[in-house]
Amino acid sequence: MSIRICFIASEVAPLAKTGGLADVAGALAKTLQARGHDLRVFMPRYGQINCENLQLWPVDFLQRVPLRLGSRDLRFDVHTTQLPGTATMIYLIDCPELFDRQTIYTNDPDEHLRFLALTHAALICCQRMGFAPDILHCNDWHTALGPLLLKTVFAWDKLFARTRSLLTLHNLGYQGVFGTDSAADTGLGTDIELLDRQEWQAGRINPLKEGIVHADHISTVSPTYAREIQTADFGWGLDGVLRQRSGDLTGILNGVDYEDWDPRHDRHLPLHYGPDQLHIKAQLKQQLQQRMGLAVAAERPLLGVVSRMTAQKGFDLLFQSLPPLLEARDASLVVLGSGDRRYEDFFADLAARWPDRVAFHAGYNEELAHWIEAGSDIFLMPSLYEPCGLNQMYSLRYGTVPVVRRTGGLADSVQHFDATTGRGTGIVFNDFDGFGVGWALTTALDLYAQKKLWGKLIRNGMAMDYGWSTQVGHYESLYAQLSSATPVKAA
Ligand code: ADP
Repeated sequence: MSIRICFIASEVAPLAKTGGLADVAGALAKTLQARGHDLRVFMPRYGQINCENLQLWPVDFLQRVPLRLGSRDLRFDVHTTQLPGTATMIYLIDCPELFDRQTIYTNDPDEHLRFLALTHAALICCQRMGFAPDILHCNDWHTALGPLLLKTVFAWDKLFARTRSLLTLHNLGYQGVFGTDSAADTGLGTDIELLDRQEWQAGRINPLKEGIVHADHISTVSPTYAREIQTADFGWGLDGVLRQRSGDLTGILNGVDYEDWDPRHDRHLPLHYGPDQLHIKAQLKQQLQQRMGLAVAAERPLLGVVSRMTAQKGFDLLFQSLPPLLEARDASLVVLGSGDRRYEDFFADLAARWPDRVAFHAGYNEELAHWIEAGSDIFLMPSLYEPCGLNQMYSLRYGTVPVVRRTGGLADSVQHFDATTGRGTGIVFNDFDGFGVGWALTTALDLYAQKKLWGKLIRNGMAMDYGWSTQVGHYESLYAQLSSATPVKAA
C-alpha cells in the first residue's frame, strides 16, 4: 500500500546536519521513497547548504508565498532539489531572513519562530499542491507544533480530514521552550487557549510537550529510550505526559544507511575491507595514526571518539578514569568533536600531555568521522543517555568494537561480549560512574590482547544488520495502523 507522507525536519543529511536527526531523516526519506510511498520532505534552505553542486528548481506556484506569524510578515519561496546520491526530491523552504544565519540552530530571540514558519510553510505547501497526506510526520521540538496546527489553523481544510500525525522524539533534552509573550508567533490565534495551562501559567510555551499531547501517535528512536523517557530520570519533566500517552508511544530503533557507512565501499576511505580483509583495516589504522600525528604503532590499541561534546555524551566520566588508564596502559586515543569548552579542553590537555598517543580534532569533519570509524580498534560512547546513537552501529559494521553504557539505543544495539560463549558484539557497562567506564575500557583492552577472542568479537559485530531495509517496515506498519485509526482530539 502506498502511503502519502508529509515529512518535516529541521535537518536532513547530507544537506544540513548537526547530528543523528539528519542521518535518520535523509535515510528514512530515501528508503520510504524507494519503497513506493508518496513522500514530500520539507526542510529550511539554510545559508549553510552548499548549493554549488545542487540543481535547484523553483516551484512556480510556490513563490513569494505570504505567511503572517505574530507581528512578522514573511514571504517564502520553495525550491525542489534532489537529495544528493538519491532519487528523492526534497522541498527547501527559502526565507533568508529566517534561515540565512551563521549556524543552523541559533540562540536568537526568534528561534521558535524560524521553525514555526517551517511547519506552517510545509502545511501551506501541501494545500497549494493539493497534496492530502495520510501522515504528517514531525520530528523533535522544531516541528512538534504541527499536530496542533493540523487540528486548529488547518482544520477547516478537508484536504487534511484524513491526515494523522506522528511526532518522532529524537532527543527529549531539547524542547524549544519560549515565552508566552511570543504566543502570537504560533499563528494559533484564539486557539492559543489549547496550549498547556501549566506551562502557560509559568510563562512558557513548550513545543515538544504540545507535540506529545496533540500528536495522534508518538515514536522515539529505540525501544529502551521509549521506556526510559517515561521515568523521572530520563523524562526531562515530560515523563508525566509521556506516561499518559504510553499506549500511543512506540520505540523504533534507527537504521543505518549502509550505502554511506560500510567499509566495503565507503567513499571517504582510500582502502576498503570486509570481515575477511582485516589486514586492510590495520593499514587504515596506520594511515589514521599518521594523519593525526600519532606514533605509528600497529599493535597499540587505538580508541576512537566522534561526538558532539555535551554532557549527554558522558565525557564527565572520563575526567577521572582516562588519564590513569593512559598512564597505566599502552593505548592511544583519537577524538573528533566540538561543543562544550570543558570537554574540548580536557581532550586538548590529554593531547598535549601524550602527543604521541592522543590526538584531538576540534570541529566537524564528515570525512574524518569515517576514517576514525575505520581506523580505530575500539569506539567509546559512555553516554549518560542516548536516544538511539548511530556511531555504535557504524562501529559494528567497521569492525571497531563499541564500548558503551547500557542506555537507550546503545542497550538495544550492542550486546555485551561473553568470552565463554563467544557471543556478543561489544563491551557494555551499567553504572554511570568512573568505575563503570574504567572497568569497560580495561575489559576491552584485555580482550584486545587476546587475538582470537578479539577476532571473534569483531566478526560478530560486522555480521550485524541494522540497515533501514528492516527498520523501515516498523514505520510502514505504524503509518498503516495510524491511517486507519481515529485521531486524538484537539481539546
Ligand atoms: P547525536 O544525534 O546525539 O549527535 P548520533 O550518534 O545519533 O548522536 O549521531 C551523530 C552523528 O553525527 C553521527 O553520524 C556522527 O558521525 C556525526 N558527528 C557527530 N559529531 C561529529 C563531528 N564532529 N564530525 C563529523 N561527524 C560528527
